[in-house]
Amino acid sequence: MIKIENLHASVDGKEILKGINLTIGAGEVHAIMGPNGSGKSTLSNIIAGRDGYTVTSGSITYKGKNLLEMSPEQRSWEGIFLAFQYPVEIPGVNNTYLLKAGVNARRKHHGEQELDAMEFLQLVREKAKLVELDPSFLSRGVNEGFSGGEKKRNEIFQMAVLEPSLALLDETDSGLDIDALRIVAGGVNKLRSSDRSIVMVTHYQRLLDYIVPDVVHVLADGKILKTGGKELALELEERGYDWVRQEAAA
Ligand code: ADP
Ligand code: MG
Ligand code: MG
Repeated sequence: MIKIENLHASVDGKEILKGINLTIGAGEVHAIMGPNGSGKSTLSNIIAGRDGYTVTSGSITYKGKNLLEMSPEQRSWEGIFLAFQYPVEIPGVNNTYLLKAGVNARRKHHGEQELDAMEFLQLVREKAKLVELDPSFLSRGVNEGFSGGEKKRNEIFQMAVLEPSLALLDETDSGLDIDALRIVAGGVNKLRSSDRSIVMVTHYQRLLDYIVPDVVHVLADGKILKTGGKELALELEERGYDWVRQEAAA
């Protein structure tokens, strides 16, 4: 699905990513863990094409194409989805309206017929159930006045509607109480499929009890210092990150 090679990137002239290598196959779920400020959001944002970042060297190949040459819109049309660490509020812009525009822009890009209002309504109602999102949220402004947990749930709802090939979930678990966590994780699990890759950026092992990853990476100081199976998350929970740094330095 995606292959990142020796990626270096900076923000405001400061190097944040210092040689990232990461390959994710179709159908795989990867967790990226690491201390605050290590570059996890930077990596997710660069894949999604958010501006403000300068890639200074390295490459990203997505479905065989040079991702770095694609606009953020093209990336979205080609199936990349980013659930933000801090979802933005867009007061006055209807939640469903925005999604419909997104879905139809992508269909158009792929030469498919746009969904009409009825078809779309049917789609969003079905997907809202997946994350137990109350239908009243569909007609509200995007994240307008949503609680932290409701915003996160809305992000997964958007993911369900957009049916991405590569979903990047940046700390989707933060701000969720235990019931919401279970619901959101259940929604993500239902979206696991052999033609979709999911990247979960998280600080907490807790989420990984619900969404069991195939691979766990430790990103620290702008590099992936260690890669392992799901048991690595448990080890990090117990031992923290310093030992990984020491091991990598040795
Ligand atoms: P993480 O998500 O792992 O906590 P981030 O990717 O958010 O880390 O940040 C990595 C580093 O890049 C931090 O030192 C952060 O302050 C810096 N950084 C990220 N975005 C910006 C920005 N827009 N301007 C300046 N510094 C930034
Ligand atoms: Mg952080
Ligand atoms: Mg972050």
